[in-house]
Amino acid sequence: MRKAGRHFLQIPGPSSVPDRILNAISQQVIDHRGPDFAKVGSKALEGLKTIFKTESNVFIYPASGTGAWEAALVNVLSPGDKVLMYETGHFATLWKSMAERLGVNAEFIQGNWRGGADPDQIEALLNEDKAQEIKAVCVVHNETSTGSVSPIAAVRKAIDAAGHPALLMVDTISGLASIDYRHDEWGVDVTVSGSQKGLMLPPGISFNAASEKALAANKTARLQKSYWDWADMIGPNKTGYFPYTPATNLLYGLNEAIEMLHEEGLDNVFARHARHGAATRSAVRAWGLEVLCNQQGQESGVLTAVKLPDGHSADGFRAKTLAEYDISLGNGLSKVADKVFRIGHLGDFNDLMLMATLSGVEMGLGAAGVPHTSGGVQAALDQLKTSNPT
Ligand code: PLP
Repeated sequence: MRKAGRHFLQIPGPSSVPDRILNAISQQVIDHRGPDFAKVGSKALEGLKTIFKTESNVFIYPASGTGAWEAALVNVLSPGDKVLMYETGHFATLWKSMAERLGVNAEFIQGNWRGGADPDQIEALLNEDKAQEIKAVCVVHNETSTGSVSPIAAVRKAIDAAGHPALLMVDTISGLASIDYRHDEWGVDVTVSGSQKGLMLPPGISFNAASEKALAANKTARLQKSYWDWADMIGPNKTGYFPYTPATNLLYGLNEAIEMLHEEGLDNVFARHARHGAATRSAVRAWGLEVLCNQQGQESGVLTAVKLPDGHSADGFRAKTLAEYDISLGNGLSKVADKVFRIGHLGDFNDLMLMATLSGVEMGLGAAGVPHTSGGVQAALDQLKTSNPT
């Protein structure tokens, strides 16, 4: 049966693509080795630096975020290298499994999936590593499976306090262009990100930002690589080209997205996300439900993961909500499967879209018979009124 009105895609990425970006993408494909392409490629490569806040190289891959994860690891590490990774949730776990499959020796600091990485634990382990065998510390900035943010600047301070030479590698696939991020200022060596979240693009391209130290590590890294090798990218990128066929039309979209982000102002974009996160948490608490992230100050402005009362299926609730109200909510992943659902409030998103989303959730809780107190939508509205949209 036809459903009237628009679908609400409220998963924590891919996020909805604004018309301006859809229109930018909707052009004829051009010759990626021809003279016109250089302008598109250079603009994208330079523009991305303003989003990652780096003066160093940003590499663009025609791949999902998983590809850029692999690129990050194989470009700076050698077989058997030791790395320190932090279990913030499902995505940190996947990145760690990938490192192991590539032949890296990953030490996993266990976490409870309810907060970000703890810099003190990282510092303590680095202090114990007298032989300085740890080659990299890998942290997920915005853990999309839990809605927790890791304090990246504090992780850098921890590495420095231990006087340790390990590289700092950060996944901000779902944090970039939604939550404050500073590749250079925070001393990050490799930043991994993707197109389909804060950048408001369809899935399909992903990125590595690399510091001078990471570029130097690339020269001696011995993990097998070919498609991902930064060394092959650097030359063509200098003039706006790529060593193989880039995702031409997504680059048109990327250039539009970067313009839109600067028109709004990155700080305003971050404040908008934080404000929507706060309003969503007010709603969740008013419903009498629990936000999965229980570390104050580490709650994500990108998404909110909500625990369902014991004995209630989060997937059943999501299915009911989709069927009744045409809204897609994020599912719980691996350890928290069927226990939590995730509300995405990222990308091209405003107050009215948030209120509609929360209304869908509140109506869905009722339709699915999940015990809750009504009034979450009102609580979010009250919270929004305490701060103006930027
Ligand atoms: N890391 C994080 C934090 C993510 O949110 C995701 C995807 O949602 C990934 C990695 C994997 O990216 P992709 O699904 O684009 O390969």
